[in-house]
Amino acid sequence: MQVPLLDLKAQFSCYKDAALKEIQEIAEAQYFINGPKVEKAEKELNDYCQSEFAVGVSSGSDALIISLMAEDIGHGDEVICPPFTFFATAGAIHRVGAKPVFCDVDETSFNIDPEKIRAAITPNTKAIIPVHLFGQMADMDPIMDIAKEYNLIVIEDGAQAIGSEYKGKKAGTIGDYGCFSFFPSKNLGAFGDGGLVTTNCEKKYKKLKSLRNHGSEVKYFHDYVGGNFRLDAIQAAVVSCKLPFLDSWHEARAKNAAYYREKFAEAGLGDKVKLPTVVEGTTKHIYNQFTLVVENDRDKLVQGLRDAGIGCDIYYPKSLSVQDCFSYLGHKDGDFPVTDKLCSSVVAIPIFPELTTEQQDVVVAKIKEILG
Ligand SMILES: *Cc1c(COP(=O)(O)O)cnc(C)c1O
Repeated sequence: MQVPLLDLKAQFSCYKDAALKEIQEIAEAQYFINGPKVEKAEKELNDYCQSEFAVGVSSGSDALIISLMAEDIGHGDEVICPPFTFFATAGAIHRVGAKPVFCDVDETSFNIDPEKIRAAITPNTKAIIPVHLFGQMADMDPIMDIAKEYNLIVIEDGAQAIGSEYKGKKAGTIGDYGCFSFFPSKNLGAFGDGGLVTTNCEKKYKKLKSLRNHGSEVKYFHDYVGGNFRLDAIQAAVVSCKLPFLDSWHEARAKNAAYYREKFAEAGLGDKVKLPTVVEGTTKHIYNQFTLVVENDRDKLVQGLRDAGIGCDIYYPKSLSVQDCFSYLGHKDGDFPVTDKLCSSVVAIPIFPELTTEQQDVVVAKIKEILG
């Protein structure tokens, strides 16, 4: 039995008719940019995220860039982020001309370790970007305390975590900005690229809206140099059609996670495979990924799973601190030991909502066979 890492076709039937009807309407109206579909999606997403304001943007990466731009963060400024994340988190900081300053993660949560943030702060620090990795929120209380103490902006990178909760609060509502992605492999994916920024501040909201459209509120009059960061109507409509199903998909992922926990325990793999931990403070994990830590033989496991037709992937194999493009920062292996350790021991296995228990049994049995 083949088991894909993600099966997007399996959920298409739920919203297919609605989405195709929307796309047909857009094609007939020839109204592709901004307009009523985008406004509708923004309102629905704002309600779902329990934020005050939401601005649709062109991608999760652009959500980060536009948030940094809204704070005038650029040359000479430093922004703290974890080195164990998708590239875009640090890429956005570099793109606005600021310096990414890495802060190691916590081994249990995979998220930025609040205890290590203070040591990374300098007089040039302007912001912190905690990432809610794999669908579990970072430990926001201590992060917000530090931000308050040093007067720093907090931009939540919730690209993998829309709808997740920390102490009952939704991702994107605790910091100054919440950034989300509708890349197809995220829990809420569009038919292409798209993203969202949430904020609880009206002033920030207005600036985000302006920046998304070349810094212009009134056509041909520019208050800022912004960019084209717009969400297009087709992506907005697809996201609207999928949103009513999102919580049921999150639940199905959580149910699959619970079943894995049962099966891994039965298989007696406890000493070889560490399952993802739901840490204190997490009131909702949305399991964008189900990431195992396998300290010995991770690469043998990955090869064995692939040979057996079982999807898996390594998020992430190399610390951002030692990527070639960041060599100017002067980091070496070992600077962020927890990240380095995770890079050589993590592997994500299938967790998508439509995964069946039979498929999960196959995955666990194969892992047991490979790791012996
Ligand atoms: C996917 C992702 C992004 C970027 O989102 P795109 O929509 O692909 O640009 C940013 N940060 C994290 C943590 C992500 O997983």
